Amino acid sequence: MSKVALRRCEDYDFDKVYKAVKSSVDLLGGMERFVKPGMKVLLKPNLLTAALPDEAVTTHPEVVRAVGRLVREAGGTVRIGDAPGGYGKNIDEILDKSGLRRIAEEEWFELVKFNTASFKDGIPIAKHVLEADLMISIPKIKTHCITVMTGAIKNMFGTVTGLHKAECHSKAPREGDLARILVKVYSMTKPGLTVVDGIVGMEGDGPSAGKPRALNVVMAGIDAVAIDACMAKIIGLNPLDVVVTNMACEAGLGVADMSKIEVLGDRLDSFIVKDFKLPRTMPLRILPRPILKWFLGLMSFKPDIDYDICVKCGLCKAACPVNCISIRETFCSIDYSACVRCLCCHEVCPHKAISIKRNLLTKMIWG
Ligand code: SF4
Ligand code: SF4
Repeated sequence: MSKVALRRCEDYDFDKVYKAVKSSVDLLGGMERFVKPGMKVLLKPNLLTAALPDEAVTTHPEVVRAVGRLVREAGGTVRIGDAPGGYGKNIDEILDKSGLRRIAEEEWFELVKFNTASFKDGIPIAKHVLEADLMISIPKIKTHCITVMTGAIKNMFGTVTGLHKAECHSKAPREGDLARILVKVYSMTKPGLTVVDGIVGMEGDGPSAGKPRALNVVMAGIDAVAIDACMAKIIGLNPLDVVVTNMACEAGLGVADMSKIEVLGDRLDSFIVKDFKLPRTMPLRILPRPILKWFLGLMSFKPDIDYDICVKCGLCKAACPVNCISIRETFCSIDYSACVRCLCCHEVCPHKAISIKRNLLTKMIWG
């Protein structure tokens, strides 16, 4: 039986966040269960791209601060790191805008950059991840245009450094292929504890171009698969319909069957949002698989750059796994014949200048 602790938290006032995070971790046995004096603890938030905390793209800094304080109170030292999209080209801007640098300076936490790696089964994993005595993952509840939802399992993909992440996207642009890679990375980097920022999540076309949505929940657990299953319930999905969760469960990495998950703290039903908006790329999942496959063959979407919003920063070009974006002084363009529809460009654009264009059938089916 896996345990997931849930605590209500109405906003990002630090005292409230600290209370909710502490209470949820206490339900699992307290931070002292995970952190022993002298341990080097790595906090791994979701720092996808440069965005303000209120935009709900990145893990809120007050949640990271609360987890860091608890680690320090238990006697551990705190490091914070992530490998965001665009190969971390704008990592300094991300740290500034997300508020992470501010809280790190105020709390004397060390910020580390994931720019060295060791290969594990052909995948470069950040050395800071492999060297930590304990990793605490701090994902945010968000939708995702390819994987429907991004949560605890997918947060570990941010431990993969450099070009390899883009290579994965180019080889596996579709949900099932990408899910296989996400599950493999999770199996190699399993954190000792996961604390989820679900106080304000993201609905719609996440993980970066959706809209903030209050969910008022902090979650904590050891089993990321069980956490993602509870997350799926909260945003109105059947946990096993989320391919990543399903595959991780099949691989024996955790529990996704709600009857085998013990929810501690506040009741899960009290957090369910009935009208939570899923990404517009999501097909009708109620269709039987063969029909769904046929529909998917006819449905299509592509990224589209809005030249009036684009500031030509080049991040999308750096993130594109097949190098099919051209950024020039006077215009930007996408070579659609090479584009693999991975939507990495859409994910990393800090200005929301890339929207997703759908063909007529996709619009008719999905609205
Ligand atoms: S679309 Fe424009 S603003 Fe957005 S990442 Fe690309 S170059 Fe930067
Ligand atoms: S243009 Fe965007 S969606 Fe197409 S391959 Fe490049 S990053 Fe992926």
